[in-house]
Amino acid sequence: MGEILTKQRTIWQAVLGEIELSVSRGNFMTWFKNTHLLDDGTRTGAVVVGVPNVFIKQQLECKYNDLIVATLQKNGIDANEVIYKIYTPSTPREAEEPLPPPAVAEQTPAQTIKPIASPLDTPAKSFSHAYRQGINERYTFDNFVVGSGNELAFAACQSIAASPGTKYNPLFLYGGVGIGKTHLMQAVGNAFLAKKPGAKVLYVTTEQFVQEFVDAIRFKKTADFVAHYRTTDVLIVDDVQFIAGKEKMQEEFFHTFNALHQANKQIILSSDRPPKEIPTLEERLRSRFAWGMSIDMQIPDFETRCAIIQSKAHEHDAELPNDVVDYLATSVQTNIRELEGALNQLLAFCEMRGLEPDLGVATTLLGSNKARPKHLSAKQIIERTARHFQIPVEDILGPKRDKDIVMPRQVAMYMLRSELHLSFPKIARELGRKDHTTAIHSVEKIEKESQLDPSLRTAIADIKGRLYA
Ligand code: ADP
Ligand code: MG
Repeated sequence: MGEILTKQRTIWQAVLGEIELSVSRGNFMTWFKNTHLLDDGTRTGAVVVGVPNVFIKQQLECKYNDLIVATLQKNGIDANEVIYKIYTPSTPREAEEPLPPPAVAEQTPAQTIKPIASPLDTPAKSFSHAYRQGINERYTFDNFVVGSGNELAFAACQSIAASPGTKYNPLFLYGGVGIGKTHLMQAVGNAFLAKKPGAKVLYVTTEQFVQEFVDAIRFKKTADFVAHYRTTDVLIVDDVQFIAGKEKMQEEFFHTFNALHQANKQIILSSDRPPKEIPTLEERLRSRFAWGMSIDMQIPDFETRCAIIQSKAHEHDAELPNDVVDYLATSVQTNIRELEGALNQLLAFCEMRGLEPDLGVATTLLGSNKARPKHLSAKQIIERTARHFQIPVEDILGPKRDKDIVMPRQVAMYMLRSELHLSFPKIARELGRKDHTTAIHSVEKIEKESQLDPSLRTAIADIKGRLYA
């Protein structure tokens, strides 16, 4: 039981990691954050996803079901249908332990849901939560790998956590997506709370901040809003570029900023660009943002990326051979979140299939994640496959049924599917076949066999390598 649950957790982590890349951060946090895979369907045939409330259930059913099904499939779970169940682990910690059977924890929507709660209600609901709101224990200084690109930001954050509000106020971190801004800011929150458990540390995304402000006005609770934000010891606001163009919000933010700054409370901000490049940011706010220290974060270099992969693999109790680590660090060069996504996908895939994560599996599984040249055509794939197996293209396209020809033909079909995502009828046509069920059968066969047969995997990796070289 425990093992299955660990497996489900790993898979769901991989699925969430991928989904995170395809939806906005705000949407991800709102709809996916507290979801769990309760049943992967292997025994019961039904894939069950636990969700915290009925709104999220509806949203996932109506809007994200296709994305979830597709991402589950990519991670080895065939989910024709996903059932969304209301599920709340009694404490967040318990979610880390083996989960109780879903039936026990299931609740009726009426029990779990209040009418759409204004985010302002949150502090009243849980006292202790109000004082560490939005801080995720997962992000610490300990599990942040320091290297080129992030060392200055790391040092500044550590020094802030040691004595917030005294220097670098505000701290403004900027840089591309997925390079560790959120992680570092959250780590400040965790470190400071560890030192001073009673402190009030608040993390919000700018989208959330704006939404809460809008709600506060609508529900005539602006005084609460102001009190909530102006009484923090450390205020962390993520992705402030989203405040661009929102004049009223900038005004409110300006006042909050001043109040906190005057009281020597720490403010930490992040953005995908420096303050001076945020369009329609009021001048006075722009100058406030630049008051303290602005740090440009860059994607870590190859060695640091390797260290990050090793550390993340370690968190999953997995050992990766060096060539796999090198391969991952080389194939994902711009974004640590993507790097993590690739790693999670690899680990989940291997766990599902009982394989060791070696270079063959990694290239087969992740090879197509690489930026694919737009000009790649079906013809090129077929030619490349024929050349690899040293047979004439006419044989692949022709009627012969010799084993030496059938197998390469099947590989060609598989490649058309995995690299160009062609439909089965289209694959059949490209290969001069009338019946598209042959294409389905061939693709499935190669998918299965490549799991078992390392030489087939190498062949596929080799063909891909040359196609994308
Ligand atoms: P950003 O906020 O810059 O878009 P995040 O902080 O969300 O990026 O980082 C994306 C993911 O990569 C997170 O899961 C984070 O834990 C991880 N990450 C980024 N940099 C590092 C690092 N140096 N060491 C360990 N994990 C990292
Ligand atoms: Mg971020």
